[in-house]
Amino acid sequence: MTSTTPQNAPFGSILTDVMAITWYRKGAWQPHALKAVGPIEIHPAAHALHYGSECFEGFKAYKWADGSVNVFRMDRHIARLRQSARSLVLPEPDAVQVEEMVREVIDRCRAAVPDAPGALYLRPLLFGTMPNIGAASTPTDEACLVVLASPVWDYFAGGGKALRIYIEEEATRCASHLGVVKTGGNYAAALGPTLAARRGHQADQVLFCPRGEVQETGAANFFAIRDGHLLTRGLDSSFLHGVTRDSLLAIAPALGYRVEERIFTVDELLAWAKTGEAALSGTAAVLSGVGTLIRGSAEHRVGSGAIGANTQRLRAALVAIQQGAAAAPEGWLTRV
Ligand SMILES: *Cc1c(COP(=O)(O)O)cnc(C)c1O
Repeated sequence: MTSTTPQNAPFGSILTDVMAITWYRKGAWQPHALKAVGPIEIHPAAHALHYGSECFEGFKAYKWADGSVNVFRMDRHIARLRQSARSLVLPEPDAVQVEEMVREVIDRCRAAVPDAPGALYLRPLLFGTMPNIGAASTPTDEACLVVLASPVWDYFAGGGKALRIYIEEEATRCASHLGVVKTGGNYAAALGPTLAARRGHQADQVLFCPRGEVQETGAANFFAIRDGHLLTRGLDSSFLHGVTRDSLLAIAPALGYRVEERIFTVDELLAWAKTGEAALSGTAAVLSGVGTLIRGSAEHRVGSGAIGANTQRLRAALVAIQQGAAAAPEGWLTRV
């Protein structure tokens, strides 16, 4: 085995040594505390373990050249955590308390925030702890909220290679009403099809396209890109409303791109791919180029097969904002 130094550690494999934690009991969130990261005691009958009452968030804090640490679009991520909680009938976390927990974790872990292009990845996690295995159709009345932090380095260290994406037109990623919910069960549901595509087609990810309509992959939104033009599915309840997606759509017009949000089909995507680009968007990698689309046993090269110039340009523009090298729209960055 080769040793893993932080700079080449896989995404999320290292945690800082401090977390924030609070419990929901007797109808209220308790004051939170900072604790050493480590096991917490939960009852084996806990609701989340049996009935999947769990959701989470993922976002980043960046160390700028001036030494300050700045969180990207924290308000949107906290709002989405609350929305996920509502959808799963979990106790809704208090937005002010979650922000305080994030701030306190960052403050205690300030020295562990990597320099750009690294970042500190924040991972709030909410799960139902009511110990009652008879509660299959009863919401949990107890819950735990934890904020973990993980130093992450450049996702594209080594240049970054264009992804191979398998187009899945039969299996769905999740139940239709849970598309907008960031819950572990959706990842579990996508895992089987993703591993099958990896085994059968050496695919990196699966693009879910129920009824032949392009939706998203297991953990990222999907863009078709070409000179002066961005196309992505319009918001509906079938997929996760990515903050990265929203941010790219917001900055693209000023970079000369027409933004189109609508349903499009696999056939249209494959026609586009002949000369265009495709990419996945999400907090972890920001924007990752797709080089090959696989449908059935046919492989379709996307553009030249390498990461496209527009994909690189859009990614660089968003990264510059996140890292404080370019002006950000009002409210996107919170100095901690
Ligand atoms: C988290 C996630 C995304 C990306 O969302 P961002 O807010 O951009 O990080 C996309 N799809 C799914 C299914 C996700 O869970």
